[in-house]
Amino acid sequence: MRFRLGRSLKDLLGERTAKALDKIGLRTEEDILRHYPRRYGDRGRLSDLRSLAVGEHVTVIAQVARTSARRMQNRPGAILTSIITDGTNELTLTFFGKNLGTVKYHEGRLRPGESGMFTGTVSDYRGTRQLTHPDYRTFRDVDDEAAAMESMDWPIPIYPASAEMPSWKVADAVQTVLRPLRLEDVPEPLPAQYRREHGLPGALEAFRSIHLPHSEGEWRRAQDRMRHEEAFVLQTALARRRAAALAEPATARPPRAGGIREAFEARLPFTLTAGQREVGDVVAEELARPVPMQRLLQGEVGSGKTVVALRAMLQVVDAGGQAALLAPTEVLAHQHHRSITGLLGPLAEGGMLGGAEEGTRVVLLTGSMGAAARRKVLAAAASGEAGIVVGTHALLGDVVQLADLGLVVVDEQHRFGVEQRDALRAKARVSPHLLVMTATPIPRTVAMTSFGDLETSTLRELPAGRAGVTTSVVPAGNERWVRRMWERIREEVDGGGRAYVVCPRIDAADDAALVADGDPDDVPADLLDAAAPAGPPLASVEEVTDLLRAVPALAGVAVGQMHGRLSGEEKDAAMRAFATGETPVLVSTTVIEVGVDVPDATVMVVLDADRFGLSQLHQLRGRIGRGDRPGVCMAVTAAAPGSPAFARVGAFATTADGFRLAELDLEMRREGDVLGAAQSGRGTSLRLLRVTKDAEIIDAARAAARAVVAADPELAEHTDLAEVLARHVDEETAAYLERA
Ligand code: ADP
Ligand code: MG
Repeated sequence: MRFRLGRSLKDLLGERTAKALDKIGLRTEEDILRHYPRRYGDRGRLSDLRSLAVGEHVTVIAQVARTSARRMQNRPGAILTSIITDGTNELTLTFFGKNLGTVKYHEGRLRPGESGMFTGTVSDYRGTRQLTHPDYRTFRDVDDEAAAMESMDWPIPIYPASAEMPSWKVADAVQTVLRPLRLEDVPEPLPAQYRREHGLPGALEAFRSIHLPHSEGEWRRAQDRMRHEEAFVLQTALARRRAAALAEPATARPPRAGGIREAFEARLPFTLTAGQREVGDVVAEELARPVPMQRLLQGEVGSGKTVVALRAMLQVVDAGGQAALLAPTEVLAHQHHRSITGLLGPLAEGGMLGGAEEGTRVVLLTGSMGAAARRKVLAAAASGEAGIVVGTHALLGDVVQLADLGLVVVDEQHRFGVEQRDALRAKARVSPHLLVMTATPIPRTVAMTSFGDLETSTLRELPAGRAGVTTSVVPAGNERWVRRMWERIREEVDGGGRAYVVCPRIDAADDAALVADGDPDDVPADLLDAAAPAGPPLASVEEVTDLLRAVPALAGVAVGQMHGRLSGEEKDAAMRAFATGETPVLVSTTVIEVGVDVPDATVMVVLDADRFGLSQLHQLRGRIGRGDRPGVCMAVTAAAPGSPAFARVGAFATTADGFRLAELDLEMRREGDVLGAAQSGRGTSLRLLRVTKDAEIIDAARAAARAVVAADPELAEHTDLAEVLARHVDEETAAYLERA
């Protein structure tokens, strides 16, 4: 297929400019056209200079107040300073030169009263904020007088920029690419009727309006169109995925009376919640159809998703098939294996002496297994002797063969991508049924965006008899509270409980990027060009372990460690020692976040809690209070009371509903953190669409996209849409779905 807008910037703009643009990830015509302005400036309205923080790369619109040049006093050379103002606050521009002659050049351009755009990194010199050697362009610099006159009141696009490529140079490059384009050069993925219905401009017009608007209304309309386009293209991709999956025949796996599933239900030590029964019925019915089930099961932390999945797996075993359960970590794979064999009891000893007659076998496959054990497991899977195969991504390997794979269950999906699902599905001769479980409750718009090809079931209810968790916020600076916190751990341990202490890093040298990006709220985001610098050092597993070993209240208490750099065996050993109480305190990173189930765990301390997302905190907290004893969660933060970061931790402490927290997360955090870090940046097809704000657009696009795909599955009548999909979905959306 011929892709339009694919020409390289090198051919269009020349080697030098292309090289600078390449550094900010822009390589093709399309790349630069979709490099939308971050905001729009206004000649008449100056940027608020008060909010600029030291260390940030900023672009501001301001007016020159005064400029002066002088020789340096203590060393050779000259300095020119220019004070720019927003009318109230000032910022100093500083230029150094060999002699007065070299800096005087700026004096001619930075005349008092002149206004323009200035860009550079904010630094502090003796209490004065300044930009050293900023790049700038005064509005008088605009080459063509006539053009300047004409564009007088037009909004000024301000692009995400780098020191090498200031906003106005990006703007020039965009215009060079955009100007010669004709209508037929730009694909139009939105159906004409959809555009009419929503009053949206065409693709080329939208590009023009977004990069060179004549009014605010114009760029707003263009942005709106691009949001619709992003939603529509993504939803079409998802609708096609879904249609393709449903078009594959599947083996019907109807329930069987007197089978292992019934035997299992008879020996369940608890009664299922209403939600578990309801979802179970839907799943049972779908498994019985010759069409592959495509279902997402999301639920509150601890709502009992595993039992729902296990019943489904047993139904498939009853029907003569096998089920594979894919877990995101070795710890979880081990745990699933243990809990499934535990729940099944003699039913998991099929074919063995003393095993139940209707039993099956449950095997575990992980990457760190020895060769001999591995061979046995592979043989049991290939022969069909093992009805249930639990594993990590090791299950995806080529050597793994299953006799008759009927159901794939993916636990905690956010760690697995579409491709991995597909790899496992490919192990079946006919399309297996698919049940995806999410680790955290997800808001509707996110579900529609990230899992739009799946039908969704939700478990909101927790099993009765849960004692619950009380959460409090502990200010890191309050020594008395912190001491009390360690005493609290001591008390729980003495009472037979276990304590998690969660840290954002493994050791002091570790990158803080381990956790989701910090709080963006105290940064003037609209003036920001680059990421904010890191804050104070964060707690690490290594350091905190040492610290706890020295805390008087914890004298004689064994402290274990858990983090991603341990081998599979070490992790398993650490979890076991924790579960048995050998090391009743476990200092850990978020590896314990997903699904780990130690019923005796009653306390959790989360250090630097403000560095975690709300959903992540909720998921962490879900690790305690799982038994009949109430849990205590203490969220420690160094954030200042009253700051947005502190408020966020407070919201976590006072909100027990995971769905509500997930929504708050959406409202409070940057989009990128919600859908995975890379999603907010370049290289994805979602640039303007916000799952936080654009629910209406997503709804509309989804309905329209499904209708288009239903009527024209091959998109024969929608060639431009097909072109855009082929191009983006392959490279980008797949990668994006992968990360989400
Ligand atoms: P999650 O949905 O977070 O994955 P799990 O499936 O791990 O939750 O279940 C959490 C715990 O609750 C497990 O120990 C499980 O055995 C138990 N459980 C599940 N369903 C019920 C129920 N209906 N009544 C009591 N306990 C249950
Ligand atoms: Mg789970």
